[in-house]
Amino acid sequence: MRTYRIAAIPADGIGPEVIDAGLEVLDALAARAGFGLDVTRYDWGSDRYRRTGALMPADGLDQLRGMDAIYFGAVGAPDIPDHVTLWGLRLPICQGFDQYANVRPTRILPGVTSPLRDVGPGDLDWVIVRENSEGEYAGHGGRAHRGLPEEVATETAIFTRRGVERIMRHAFAIARARPAKHLTVVTKSNAQRHGMVFWDEIAALVAADFPDVAWDKELVDAMTTRMVRRPASIDTVVATNLHADILSDLAAALAGSLGIAPTGNIDPERRFPSMFEPIHGSAFDITGRGIANPVASFWTAAMMLEHLGEAAAAASLMAAVEQVCAAGIMTPDLGGTETTAGVTRAVVDALRGAN
Ligand code: ATP
Ligand code: MG
Repeated sequence: MRTYRIAAIPADGIGPEVIDAGLEVLDALAARAGFGLDVTRYDWGSDRYRRTGALMPADGLDQLRGMDAIYFGAVGAPDIPDHVTLWGLRLPICQGFDQYANVRPTRILPGVTSPLRDVGPGDLDWVIVRENSEGEYAGHGGRAHRGLPEEVATETAIFTRRGVERIMRHAFAIARARPAKHLTVVTKSNAQRHGMVFWDEIAALVAADFPDVAWDKELVDAMTTRMVRRPASIDTVVATNLHADILSDLAAALAGSLGIAPTGNIDPERRFPSMFEPIHGSAFDITGRGIANPVASFWTAAMMLEHLGEAAAAASLMAAVEQVCAAGIMTPDLGGTETTAGVTRAVVDALRGAN
């Protein structure tokens, strides 16, 4: 029996609530699917920062290095600045393990209502691939003449041939593995004539290696309109760090709730462990009330299983989640009246019923 080493980092706010729910479901699944999970839990996060001055220990990355995957909750607390929590835990892992592909599947689950009129399951089924290592968030730039009338601030996006080519290749590969075999490359090459034209050129270059994948180009502004007006014309999307950041928030909202959407920070070359997390944050407004939606955490777990090569187990987990959503067993963010524990129990029962 194959046993996977999983690092669980629940961290802050509702993170522990939804990660515990996810681990319970994974446990029920593993027993039936015939694989083992060796879970190591880390108490890293804001509490640790208040106690010790650091969110994770100095040798944190070394502790994670031998893991098969990282299952992450959420980081952030009202009394600690965002850049401290982000740069103290999540980003060091993403960067340290060169998780250059941020992959965000989005679709409307049965029973969930999209804010888009007349759009239901099947009309919106996307994977957004975000470049996760460079671009607009490379931190390149600075300020000159501080406080003076001639002050200038620059924020330079860095695009390297290696960086753009590898994300493009991974996006084409994802598109190829999906039934639609279609990729939309999003840029802003009408207005930004260096980096974005570079993206267009590399897209054409990489496309030649994927003759079986149809692809088109869209400017990011037009893309927002297309997502709302013609969601069914989209399948797989690749965009820069900034553009995909914005597009994937829009995507999550169109799919019904922030409490549903998962993401994977992936090292496609598998040199290091990849990290899987719900896209939502620590949500302190609902922490401790037992009403956090665990669906994003379940979907995150399914993505992790797929990455580990347990595609059948991932599919049965998603089937159980869909069955529970379709039955209207939902938390208040989706208009339901269930608790985190109630939804979790229903998914575990659905998994048991399936075997
Ligand atoms: P952070 O700074 O950690 O990203 P945030 O305040 O920006 O946090 P989120 O924590 O992502 O944003 O959540 C925004 C709102 O969405 C929350 O206030 C919460 O009410 C709701 N929300 C987020 N995740 C969930 C969930 N899993 N279940 C129910 N509601 C959620
Ligand atoms: Mg946030």
